[in-house]
Amino acid sequence: MKHRITRRDFLNGTQVAIGASLLGPWTDVFGTPAAKFGLGKNYYPPAKTGLRGSHDGAWETMHARVAGTTWPAGPVEEEYDLVVVGGGISGLSAAHFYRRERPSARILVLDNHDDFGGHAKRNEFRVNNQTRIAYGGTESIDTPSGYTDVSKALLEDIGIDVQKFYEYFDQNLYDDMGLSYAIAFDEQTYGKRKLVTGYGSKPWAAFAAETPMSKEAQADLVRAFTDKRDYLPGMSREEKTAKLSRMSYRSYLEDYVKVGEQVLEMYQRWGMSYWCVGMDEVPAIDILGYSDGGDLPGIGRTLARDGERGVEPYIFHFPDGNASVARLLVRSLIPEALPGETMEDSVTARLDYSALDVHGSRLRIRLNSTAVNVAHTADSKAVDVTYVHLGEAHTVRAKKCIMACYNSAIPYICPELTEQQTAGLAYNVKVPLTYTKVMVPNWRAFADLAIRFVYYTNDFYKQVELDYPVSIGDYEFGADPDQPMALHMCYVPYFDDIKGPEQWRAGRRKLLETPFSTFEYHVRDQLDQALSGAGFDADRDITAITVNRWAHGYSYNPDLLWEPEYGSESEKPWVVGRQALGRISIANSDAGAASNTDSAITQGFRAVQEALTG
Ligand SMILES: Cc1cc2nc3c(=O)[nH]c(=O)nc-3n(C[C@H](O)[C@H](O)[C@H](O)COP(=O)(O)OP(=O)(O)OC[C@H]3O[C@@H](n4cnc5c(N)ncnc54)[C@H](O)[C@@H]3O)c2cc1C
Repeated sequence: MKHRITRRDFLNGTQVAIGASLLGPWTDVFGTPAAKFGLGKNYYPPAKTGLRGSHDGAWETMHARVAGTTWPAGPVEEEYDLVVVGGGISGLSAAHFYRRERPSARILVLDNHDDFGGHAKRNEFRVNNQTRIAYGGTESIDTPSGYTDVSKALLEDIGIDVQKFYEYFDQNLYDDMGLSYAIAFDEQTYGKRKLVTGYGSKPWAAFAAETPMSKEAQADLVRAFTDKRDYLPGMSREEKTAKLSRMSYRSYLEDYVKVGEQVLEMYQRWGMSYWCVGMDEVPAIDILGYSDGGDLPGIGRTLARDGERGVEPYIFHFPDGNASVARLLVRSLIPEALPGETMEDSVTARLDYSALDVHGSRLRIRLNSTAVNVAHTADSKAVDVTYVHLGEAHTVRAKKCIMACYNSAIPYICPELTEQQTAGLAYNVKVPLTYTKVMVPNWRAFADLAIRFVYYTNDFYKQVELDYPVSIGDYEFGADPDQPMALHMCYVPYFDDIKGPEQWRAGRRKLLETPFSTFEYHVRDQLDQALSGAGFDADRDITAITVNRWAHGYSYNPDLLWEPEYGSESEKPWVVGRQALGRISIANSDAGAASNTDSAITQGFRAVQEALTG
């Protein structure tokens, strides 16, 4: 039976989090705690909808710290061998590596969110008596063959065999159904809103003719895809690479492929979900490795793709993304929290949050706890870590501390840092974005329109796409279009007039100010726009929305046009920033300036080596 979702349902999802932060205690919302910090048996954040990701209640303490509120160390309540600040993949990996070397160590992991995993976040939905699992952030184990040996070994240690995804991920489903990519052209640029299907699958002339672009722009588009010309003639491969590395893709299209404004605008926001900037800031060379939403024009004739691309398909995906990596890490650290033994059975196993922070346990993960002050004791023989849990400050003492949280926040927490290290850490401005999951009881409209992915040229959400067809263990992907699905929509704040890291700072503020109702409005509007031609009705066909808001999202990747060249590795700001400070080491994917799980794990390992030897 179809369920009609009301505005009240949506607001409830939001209000739970806000209510929790303002009215406390969290136990009213989540269940009765077993001990002082323990979580109740009914505590189950993956099932929450509304505004998630960096949810209300998670960020206010740290923002108060940045604004000047201080929490000096208080009486020591507990003692640990290691305290890890940040329970994302990096922090959990650090706990794993440390415990492997020191099996009897007492370890505490602190995280400000109501769930562990950081960006690796699981969303769950119930619809028509079925559970649908979705990824709220960290999506896939991207190109695992390129992972460091340390990361590969960790994945194996926690039971992940990436080769199995060749069996679990149905690479042909959408192709076999004839589902293509589509472009939703916007009214402001093209005079009217229009969905055009068959991007990359129809002949380019037929596709272009259906667009609302001018005749000249249509001809430009066809030429840019079909012309066999080399746009940088007479240059060696090395010369071309150097040139394309210092030129934006937009400039390349404009100055070399010579397409007009309407085509330039069509592609300006194409990479927003990946680079989170317009194509006027993305080096043309980077386009070679990017095909989300279909291929891009112009470049393939100039520089044949190198062997790297396409070696490994993008299939290493659990239904909840890399939240499964985090869950399997938790299973290895606290086996009783996640029943079962295999990567397959972990997918549907219910995590027992009440096992995370048990009094007397050697390994404890404490949620809803924001570290606000980390400093050596007067004799430098330990580190005092002060954190705020449910509005109350607590201090624990540790022999070692690993900061696996956002690197740019560390200077506000660790008062002993030098100015130079502070500047190095602050260099990493994290990139804001949201992953919105929209639960629909069926995806029939996509099948009827023969589409799998819609790119919006200039709208709030940059794209909507069908979920990845992956079935693991007891979890079966709804391959029939009459089955329920969590659609994926991505929103990245975009500013025409702000470039460089400033746009991410502005975007972060915008994200935190944007109410759930705005996200909801655009979900409905954009899905209706794309799908109403096949009978979709947002009022009837949306049963839940979860907005995973990541105000501090991707780690900064130093690969955009304005990034300077450094004389040596040791000059790089993130290398300066991640140096150990006495008993405090620094992890997180930020420490490797790479927004991926490989970096998160590898930096966790590096920090543990420092902690073990320092
Ligand atoms: C939307 C999105 C999609 C992504 N997709 C992919 C992908 O497909 N593949 C991939 O490899 N990578 C992806 N990434 C990159 C992702 O960041 C890394 O893969 C990885 O999950 C980062 O782990 P981490 O532990 O380094 O950082 P985080 O996941 O950020 O974990 C750090 C934790 O520390 C907490 N923290 C911060 N300050 C404090 C404090 N003061 N006290 C206590 N805790 C604190 C944070 O809230 C967070 O929970 C994605 C990122 C985002 C945002």
